[in-house]
Amino acid sequence: MAKRRAAATRRAADRICEPMRRCLLLLLCLAGAAVAVVAQAPARRTVSLIVTNAIVVTMDGTSRVLPAGAVAVDGREIAAVDTTEAIARGFEARETIDAGGQVVMPGLINTHTHAPMVLYRGLADDLALMDWLQKYIFPSEAQTVSPEFVRAGTRLAALEMIQSGTTTYADMYYFEEEIARATRDAGLRGVLGQTIIQFPVPDAKTPQDGMARAERFIKAYASDELITPAIAPHAMYTLDRATLRSIRAIADREHAPVIIHLAETQDEVRTARQKYQLTPTGFLESIGFWGPKTIAAHAVWVTPADIQILARRHVGVSHNPESNMKLASGTAPVTAMRAAGLAVGLGTDGAASNNDLDMFEAMRQAAFLHKLVTRDPRAIPAAVALRMGTIDGARALGMEQTIGSLEPGKRADLLVVSMSAPRQTPMYDPLSHLVYVTRGDDVRTTIVNGKVLMRDRKMLTLDEGAVLAEARQWMGKVRAAVAVKD
Ligand SMILES: [Zn+2]
Repeated sequence: MAKRRAAATRRAADRICEPMRRCLLLLLCLAGAAVAVVAQAPARRTVSLIVTNAIVVTMDGTSRVLPAGAVAVDGREIAAVDTTEAIARGFEARETIDAGGQVVMPGLINTHTHAPMVLYRGLADDLALMDWLQKYIFPSEAQTVSPEFVRAGTRLAALEMIQSGTTTYADMYYFEEEIARATRDAGLRGVLGQTIIQFPVPDAKTPQDGMARAERFIKAYASDELITPAIAPHAMYTLDRATLRSIRAIADREHAPVIIHLAETQDEVRTARQKYQLTPTGFLESIGFWGPKTIAAHAVWVTPADIQILARRHVGVSHNPESNMKLASGTAPVTAMRAAGLAVGLGTDGAASNNDLDMFEAMRQAAFLHKLVTRDPRAIPAAVALRMGTIDGARALGMEQTIGSLEPGKRADLLVVSMSAPRQTPMYDPLSHLVYVTRGDDVRTTIVNGKVLMRDRKMLTLDEGAVLAEARQWMGKVRAAVAVKD
């Protein structure tokens, strides 16, 4: 009886335990599967920013364009450039910018300007370079350039550059430490050259004073994240041989870039030939001036032999088509320079000879100008103009390892550019549109060093109203300076 009861109890227990065992087994299987799934899908990397849903124009070595792409940014650097899905799978971000199907591209690089000269915009037009410089610009500068003037001008220039897609600019002017401060505050990247010139200028009574100032400036900004301090001898015709040699020595000692105007006009070539029986490039070669990290602005009147010198010395060239046309300086032999392997970037020059800082316009004008003078519409195609405005500009400044294209490891300097205006519709080829129909005003968002400086046209680092009001306040003083001269 007792045995029978015990057997019945075991059977009952088995009946209860069987479903429990199955249940347990199922749970174990599910847990195992979940572990396997987790192991297969790697954890998404958290980054600071993702710009997604874009046509990504990378300007990398193969000029890759991703029709449905995204860029992951971590801190100051680009973490990845890939399809929208791949970035979504691999990354999650603290901040996401939906580009809404518009273009994302590297920030534009203006390889030559004089930022504070925006305050002389439209002051004196339609004059030859020497008249313009000697009758208007130099006298106006003598009476108005001060640290306050330079600060106000740089803030205005920075506003214009951020709003039109420039993320790096090379500058040469006076009180460059003020320009550096205003540039850094605005969040832009700059290669900023303290100008040296033979005659007394507002920030230096002598070229020796100017060189001492340049050396202090270079030391002060030696390890800045955004500012590369440089020394900027104005030109071979405004400096003597000894000063040019001293400037090269400072640059070598401090490992600083050198920025100089070169062969901008035929007058400059005549002066060099009369004084030294050499071309400006040949003269500078003869005194050992050319060296690494040197940027020559304009190079309009260079001979084939000059081009060989510049190529041998790895000099970066800044081509300024609008300034050269407006001042009727001439046409730089850009196709020959490119064929010789020179890095040729684009510049606007100062706004007084352009009269704006819009690099989209510089790309378009470069393409048009060289088609016209060579009578070959293939001379500078859109893709080449775009390279000149981005990666070739970076090469000209010796910064191609860090900026100029959208590639992992490079600094996150990028733009969101709208492609929805009537003049941009329809769009078959984004590269064509970026050069031939896009304007600075089409830039929606500007990011430098991973920091958003303008988001959907809203300025985040500069108070637009205050900057414009401050700039207008300088008009009276500038007008008075020109009136005194007349
Ligand atoms: Zn210039």
